Amino acid sequence: MKYLSTRGLAPTKTFTEILLGGLALDGGLYLPEEYPQVTREELDAWRNLSYADLAFAVMSKFAPDIPAADLKAITDKTYTQAVYSNARADSDTRQIAPLRTLEPGLHILELSNGPTLAFKDMAMQLLGNLFEYALERQHGELNILGATSGDTGSAAEYAMRGKHGIRVFMLSPHGKMSAFQTAQMYSLQDPNIFNIAVRGVFDDAQDLVKAVSNDHVFKAEYHIGTVNSINWGRISAQVVYYFKGYFAATASNEEQVAFSVPSGNFGNICAGHIARQMGLPIAQLILATNENDVLDEFFKTGIYRPRGTAQTFHTSSPSMDISKASNFERFVFDLVGRDAAKLREFWSQVDTGGAFNIKDTPYWDELPSFGFVSGKSTHQDRLETIRATWENYGVMIDTHTADGLKVGIEQCRADLPLICLETALPAKFEATIIEALGREPERPAGMEGIENLPQRCEVMDAEVEALKAFIAGNVPG
Ligand SMILES: *Cc1c(COP(=O)(O)O)cnc(C)c1O
Repeated sequence: MKYLSTRGLAPTKTFTEILLGGLALDGGLYLPEEYPQVTREELDAWRNLSYADLAFAVMSKFAPDIPAADLKAITDKTYTQAVYSNARADSDTRQIAPLRTLEPGLHILELSNGPTLAFKDMAMQLLGNLFEYALERQHGELNILGATSGDTGSAAEYAMRGKHGIRVFMLSPHGKMSAFQTAQMYSLQDPNIFNIAVRGVFDDAQDLVKAVSNDHVFKAEYHIGTVNSINWGRISAQVVYYFKGYFAATASNEEQVAFSVPSGNFGNICAGHIARQMGLPIAQLILATNENDVLDEFFKTGIYRPRGTAQTFHTSSPSMDISKASNFERFVFDLVGRDAAKLREFWSQVDTGGAFNIKDTPYWDELPSFGFVSGKSTHQDRLETIRATWENYGVMIDTHTADGLKVGIEQCRADLPLICLETALPAKFEATIIEALGREPERPAGMEGIENLPQRCEVMDAEVEALKAFIAGNVPG
């Protein structure tokens, strides 16, 4: 299988070739030339597989260029109970991504039991092992440079810690993350993990990363790469849990379901779209946004209008505070019938700060056939949903999952079972839980005192030269 660029002007590549890279040379995102199909027989055979075996079955379709025995070893090593055990005390951690039924037909898929208590661990842990494998084979090395305001950075660090051939240089805004998030990242003592606390805000850290990445000479000399949400390895690994959730919530492969997905960069729900294109019986993909509702606006009006940073709100579901959804281009490529020229036309608007509108095009009439519906949730909705879920079911959920549950219940067709993806555990967002419930969230065993562990980080002014010097000083020449 080969991968093509959404912009249509870059050569096709294999899974392994795109694994370590970012955007295609023409600025597009990679997608399979054709989505692999899952037959009814395969669905039957997959229904009772363990998560690791299911991951192997799904990933084999996306990465046929990795020898089966090697891929099997990687999925077996990744999806273990030991890696995904940071769960609620009553979770069934013998399973990876267990389904929790709130009431008949209403479920939560627990995707946040990994090392950083967020769903990003589901894909990132696999990516760490895939990267190490690919680098070993090509005798290469990779220095991952990124900026984080919380979730992505810590998931990347926990995935890459101790991996051969890989170093992580992660920038974060000095003193701006919660004590828990700071402790999660800065307490890592692995010599290949470098936390850099930048004096400034998240955007300052982000600008530094961009400046270094735009210095192509430095980038090549120091093997600089990223693990951001457009990485195809991450998207493909996320497809797996849609299958897992479907099997857990249904008794037969005749049934249809709805998934509700708290969305920011459109990575998670893009994987749902792909699972549906492969033949998984998903009737509805329910996209939930917070006050940053650029995606809800698109599905309601046909207008995609990314916002500037000044119009991007800081909310109590911060991992969904995006102005522009970096994976959305993948879906629109399918929506326009894979017409790369059309896609380029739309994105020439987006890339220059504009918008596009599909309302008066044939694409608007095609949209319902993709199964998407959307809705928006506010701070008040989050508080109420967290409270109602606690009172009615005795289950504490985080703020992002609350957005998904609120919009999911609102938008789900009455005849469908609803599977809400849990994207983080409440322990990560203590302040809002206390605001909603007047009590602290439960912490997974072993995480009680992490704020008291010794921390290791380099504090730095927001200066490009200082960052380059730090990287150069820590990468053996
Ligand atoms: C990253 C993240 C999201 C948004 O996921 P996308 O793939 O960007 O749509 C939602 N909730 C949490 C907790 C996250 O960390």
